[in-house]
Amino acid sequence: MNRLKEAGFASLLVGGCVRDLLLGREPKDFDVVTDAHPEEIRKLFRNARLIGRRFRLAHVRFGREIIEVATFRANPQTNDKRQPRQRTGRKNEADANIFGTQEEDALRRDFTVNALYYDIRNFQVTDYVGGVADLKQGILRIIGEPESRYREDPVRMLRAVRFAAKLGFKIEKKTAAPIHELAPLLANVPAARMFEEVLKLFHGGCALETYELLRHYGLFRYLFPLTEESLETEESGFPITLVPRALANTDARLAEGKPVTPAFLFAVMLWEPVRRETRGLVARGVNNQVALARATERVLREQLNHISIPKRFSIPMREIWFLQSRFERRAGQQAFRLLHHPRFRAAYDFLLLRAETGEAEKALSDWWTRFQEVSEAERKAMVRALAPPAGKKRRRRRARRG
Ligand code: ATP
Ligand code: MG
Repeated sequence: MNRLKEAGFASLLVGGCVRDLLLGREPKDFDVVTDAHPEEIRKLFRNARLIGRRFRLAHVRFGREIIEVATFRANPQTNDKRQPRQRTGRKNEADANIFGTQEEDALRRDFTVNALYYDIRNFQVTDYVGGVADLKQGILRIIGEPESRYREDPVRMLRAVRFAAKLGFKIEKKTAAPIHELAPLLANVPAARMFEEVLKLFHGGCALETYELLRHYGLFRYLFPLTEESLETEESGFPITLVPRALANTDARLAEGKPVTPAFLFAVMLWEPVRRETRGLVARGVNNQVALARATERVLREQLNHISIPKRFSIPMREIWFLQSRFERRAGQQAFRLLHHPRFRAAYDFLLLRAETGEAEKALSDWWTRFQEVSEAERKAMVRALAPPAGKKRRRRRARRG
């Protein structure tokens, strides 16, 4: 930032880092803005890389971190009405269509508390939109006219919920009002971007609160329509609790600094729809394993219309599901083989959840918990102690495999 300043450019922090610092929270990362153009930034920093096609950003390596350095940018919609030269004084018209003044840069941001600048030239916070007052009162307020801002970018509805949950802020009335009605616009957001947003929503440390707000504002059904459907039906009189329990676990894991994976998240979200579909197929005489495989394909195909799930996550997600039935088959070497399966740990965590919600036998998950804790000799004894399966059933299983 000093290098930008010393070269005569504006040099400010903006967005989440300023917001978090003012709240006394630790920022996740630092975003820098300047009036220097991307090419000028590159000249100043040997280690800068320009990214993006239309709006170019500089990524500057700083030790092990990458700092995003952006040029002040105007809202494309306010742009059309004015002459580019007037606004930026730059010759290049293509650039002038994108770049703007600091104030324009503030106005195209999403929420007032996200549009604060910290200027290292005078050590002051600049606020064009009343963000400081909102920050003090814990209010999340969209900048400008809510409906048009959501239409411009429907992801802002998800961001509203995410920040409200993370900061413990209240979504201001006018900001909240159009969300229910405009939620269907999420269907227009590319599935790949939705994937990124879903990770921010559920791997940000406040997944449970976020989930409740998403459902409250009618947004959740546009992320996971089949899940929403399954949540609306109750099973033997009890509401299905797998999702909220899993999300509470995710938050607890993150709080302890433990890793989380999208494979597990999607396994949780889509499990009920997959189970329902499987049950339907089994009822029509399809064998269990085939039914699960077919249900998985159907549910996944529908889900991918909304949120893309990279193969590196959807493959382990399926494994978590397919391993569930193997927990029951423990005779001979089966339990030992399962224990050494690369996806054992995730599948076991999933079994625990299923047992907590009453879907799997508590005795079964307890057995596996113990099996991991004891010595090899004790493991063998545990397997021996299992009631031997009926001879008839065993033969049939062998025959099928052959
Ligand atoms: P986090 O702590 O989650 O990183 P953040 O506020 O830094 O929160 P980012 O997604 O990193 O969020 O975005 C940085 C800044 O860019 C935001 O604070 C906001 O000013 C602006 N911004 C990001 N996404 C949008 C959007 N969809 N519409 C308008 N402004 C946005
Ligand atoms: Mg950020």
